[in-house]
Amino acid sequence: MEMPKRSNPMMEKLAPLPGRHALLPELSARQELALLARALHREGYDDHIAGHITLAQPDGTFLVNPWELTWDEITADDVIRVDNTGAVVEGEWNVTPAIGLHLKVHQRRHDLKVVLHNHSRWGLIWSASGRVPPVYDQTSGQVEGDPIYYDEYAGTVDGASEAEAAAAALGDEKWAILKNHGVFVVGKDIRQAHLRAITLEHRCRLAWHVETLGGGQPITDPETLRVVQMSDDLGFPFLWEAMARREIRLDPRVLGEQAANSIERRGA
Ligand SMILES: [Zn+2]
Repeated sequence: MEMPKRSNPMMEKLAPLPGRHALLPELSARQELALLARALHREGYDDHIAGHITLAQPDGTFLVNPWELTWDEITADDVIRVDNTGAVVEGEWNVTPAIGLHLKVHQRRHDLKVVLHNHSRWGLIWSASGRVPPVYDQTSGQVEGDPIYYDEYAGTVDGASEAEAAAAALGDEKWAILKNHGVFVVGKDIRQAHLRAITLEHRCRLAWHVETLGGGQPITDPETLRVVQMSDDLGFPFLWEAMARREIRLDPRVLGEQAANSIERRGA
């Protein structure tokens, strides 16, 4: 069946209002990655120093968060750059040994800019349960479809063959729950990766609560979610900007030392 062409009239009407304050300062790729890590940490992507985000660059390299740092302490200055073999080519920190899975996915999926993995707090409950959480509200249903449940867990994702198998299992999908391990989310840009990651964690959290109460009635009619699911392709209006502003407001150092000093000077 031919799907109707999607458009987001609200975004088109409201986003380019002239003369208003910018919703975010102009951000570098490093700053966007640091902001994404901080924003997701606040949502539940917070298993200590576990987890990695790769951001593909036009020159074939990848920006990635350092192995040593938690997602809520990373700044734009900390972001390192690796080549397509995973070797660090820029930066003062180490790269995770689990970079291989990210690189395999990037190799297979040139439509993607962002690949992220973590042992998120609520996602892990479903990962361990062996089930995919039902959709119990619209926020849980902002991204269409169920995550794949990848059950060939091999202990880590740092071996080349395991990485190849996991990347193949993801296929053309947008997200996965890794059995007894965590979650895996990909996106065409930072905005889409952010929405998918927070939607997955919200879905896992709400479903856990609902089922702890004894269960509820999942949303099964696709028409109920048709409007909110436009956000995955086209962007949820103003959401990423608001979440990024919160991180900048709480700690301007997330943007790196130079940018933080500039903000402090302006605020003085
Ligand atoms: Zn992991």
